[in-house]
Amino acid sequence: MIEIKTHAQLEAMRAAGLVVARTLAAVVDHVKVGVSTAELDELAEQTIRDAGAIPSFKGYNGFPASICASVNEQIVHGIPNKKQILAEGDLISIDCGAILDGWHGDSAVTVGVGELSPADQKLSEATRQSMLAGIEMAVPGGRLYDISFAIESAAIEAGERDGVEYGIVADYGGHGIGTKMHMDPFLPNYGKPGKGPKLKVGMAIAIEPMLSLGTDDSNELDDGWTVVTADGTRAAHWEHSVAITEDGPWVLTAPE
Ligand code: MG
Ligand code: MG
Repeated sequence: MIEIKTHAQLEAMRAAGLVVARTLAAVVDHVKVGVSTAELDELAEQTIRDAGAIPSFKGYNGFPASICASVNEQIVHGIPNKKQILAEGDLISIDCGAILDGWHGDSAVTVGVGELSPADQKLSEATRQSMLAGIEMAVPGGRLYDISFAIESAAIEAGERDGVEYGIVADYGGHGIGTKMHMDPFLPNYGKPGKGPKLKVGMAIAIEPMLSLGTDDSNELDDGWTVVTADGTRAAHWEHSVAITEDGPWVLTAPE
């Protein structure tokens, strides 16, 4: 069962999405050489709570923080840490979720610390473009895996343009979102068009491609959370929570 929201409920989700957008903007503004990922987490939690919202990641299956901070070869679910100090040229993805009035928002961005290498810059941009291609397919009457196919196709096209074969991280993907953070359906970041559940007005889906400079294989570290590329190459991750409306995709976590 995929949760269907009324327009008023989507408005409430937009309010939650805006808290996430503002939090990510504040955190990104703070990404600098010498800052620890724990400091970024503190700022995120404060920003979310100041907005009257609840950090949805904190305590989720025991996760200890309000953001995931995934640096370089870390793909997703990195645990903020006082000892992880950002250095020039690091590539960091920040994933953030908040609950406002019972509704969830979930979004992630990837940014550089100082100046990125051209390869890392292109990797992040390819990932963002793949997300945008997926978002475009979040329309009524389409099928879920139209989104998957669009993400996959955009990643391949970007790779051809950039002269790299990007890895599309295989074991993770997007998800339905609404009264919970992770709901049906699971959204793979690759797939066949015209397949999967029909997309209907009132559905909301978190669309979140993860690309690497190498393999699509990943491993989970002993901390039980941090997911890294199996070959140690760098990865990027972008995410928006998107509602399907009569007027097309509504990016609930986009900045104002
Ligand atoms: Mg997320
Ligand atoms: Mg998500």
